Amino acid sequence: MMHDVIVVGAGPGGSSAASFLARRGISTLLLDKADFPREKVCGDGLTPQAIYWLDRLGCAEEVLAETKGCIHSCDLYINGRHALTGGFPDGTAYPNFAVLLDRRRFDHAIQRNALAHGARFRGGCVVRGVERDADGVTVSARTRGGGTEQFRARIVIGADGVASAVSRAIGNELKQGVAAISLRTYYRDVRIEGAPIKVYFDRSYFPGYGWLFVDDDGLANIGLGYAVDPTFPAPQGLAATFRRFLETELAGPLAKATRCGAVSGGSASFYRPHAIVDDRVMLIGDAANQADPLNGGGIHKAMESAFLAAEAAARALESGDFSRRALSHYETLWKQHIECDWQTAEIFLTIAKNPSLRDFCLFVLEQIGRLTTEDNRFQDFCAGVFSGVVSQSLCLSPRVLYHAFPKDLGAWRAFLLANGGLGGGPIRLARGAVASLASAGAMAARDPLPNLDWSMEVATKVLRLATRQVAEFGGAARQA
Ligand SMILES: Cc1cc2nc3c(=O)[nH]c(=O)nc-3n(C[C@H](O)[C@H](O)[C@H](O)COP(=O)(O)OP(=O)(O)OC[C@H]3O[C@@H](n4cnc5c(N)ncnc54)[C@H](O)[C@@H]3O)c2cc1C
Repeated sequence: MMHDVIVVGAGPGGSSAASFLARRGISTLLLDKADFPREKVCGDGLTPQAIYWLDRLGCAEEVLAETKGCIHSCDLYINGRHALTGGFPDGTAYPNFAVLLDRRRFDHAIQRNALAHGARFRGGCVVRGVERDADGVTVSARTRGGGTEQFRARIVIGADGVASAVSRAIGNELKQGVAAISLRTYYRDVRIEGAPIKVYFDRSYFPGYGWLFVDDDGLANIGLGYAVDPTFPAPQGLAATFRRFLETELAGPLAKATRCGAVSGGSASFYRPHAIVDDRVMLIGDAANQADPLNGGGIHKAMESAFLAAEAAARALESGDFSRRALSHYETLWKQHIECDWQTAEIFLTIAKNPSLRDFCLFVLEQIGRLTTEDNRFQDFCAGVFSGVVSQSLCLSPRVLYHAFPKDLGAWRAFLLANGGLGGGPIRLARGAVASLASAGAMAARDPLPNLDWSMEVATKVLRLATRQVAEFGGAARQA
């Protein structure tokens, strides 16, 4: 049987794509190696953007009814000290809260939504290959019991996550750039003060963070992950680092808590694959490495890319043109809506991944935290950029930065007091900055070759983003 579209992978990306396609009357087959419901290692945090996309799918109410409490704020700790409490800003396209829901129930809700709109589902199909010919695509899968089955469609959407078989089938090599590895577990009877989402930066696992996400019943999703990169050796011992995190940073909240889940590993990739579109094929979500490089959140990105890919698929089916050129409409939409923010976040991650700059980055983050304490607007801006609710590329705009930074003298006074007083504060700040930069210089000098590669990488990425911004600015000026 010839389907219009086969979607490989029924996570948030694949099921959203299937739902967006099926509701247009497009015959859609959703394949997954698992049967649903199934587990997925995750922080279980549904950002305001994810709630927005659930609303677009028409299942926000159903999902929200399963969650325990709306989350309006997040505490950030740096090197063991509380640095800032930030909220999700009002007045954006998104709600001003996040929620927590385990992926077993969340992914199942979206998969059910796709089926309710007419998509068909086959579980227990491990996709192994994708062969294209003049008339369509053949997807080969190993089925339960060890047999092989083939499915036919006009277009395939690869939504099969970080180890995507579809991505490999169109020539991408996986594990080519910066990635993140993480461990996660669950505790019950967790007692906390302050915000129910807590994020921990520490020099022993930067760039990366530990997290403690607690629902209203005291059930916590706890994890820790950090970036690993081919240029710099990985920090040693994720398991030991995670154990230390539980025993030290989380000793208070976990004092009366009991572990109620296995410690499981997960990974994500944060580099551009060679292609996200090819003849008859598109990649979305983690299969296209689209998670946010700044905070690792990828559920909403997968859902947004699903929407854009469904638009492109519908257009291709209408025109009968399934070539790479026709499907690159998806890539164009992605670039218009998301790429600039993604590239900005990628530059921040690239800078932070250099171990020589670890102390300097944490020093800057700590100062930003101090500056937010007396200025709610600046606090919202910083929390918004970290969560991606505020467009991340905005923090490269001098005009936006000028408006965002505190103008109130009280905020600067509090900032200097927190840094050692009105008189000594500036001196202490300058000393802190110089010391962390000097140690960065010394470390870089001891290991010049990786640092040279890294400088080129940063320069290339900055240049690529700048070229893009100039082209967009030129286009906007011509239209005006
Ligand atoms: C530890 C950790 C914590 C995270 N925490 C958060 C968070 O709190 N909030 C957030 O927004 N994001 C978080 N993320 C990122 C988020 O999990 C992903 O970005 C998101 O799941 C991507 O969705 P997806 O649909 O693209 O892929 P996935 O959710 O990975 O779904 C892929 C699907 O494809 C199926 N599949 C895989 N291979 C095959 C195959 N060969 N054949 C058939 N089916 C296949 C899988 O069974 C799966 O159902 C976290 C990631 C990690 C690793």
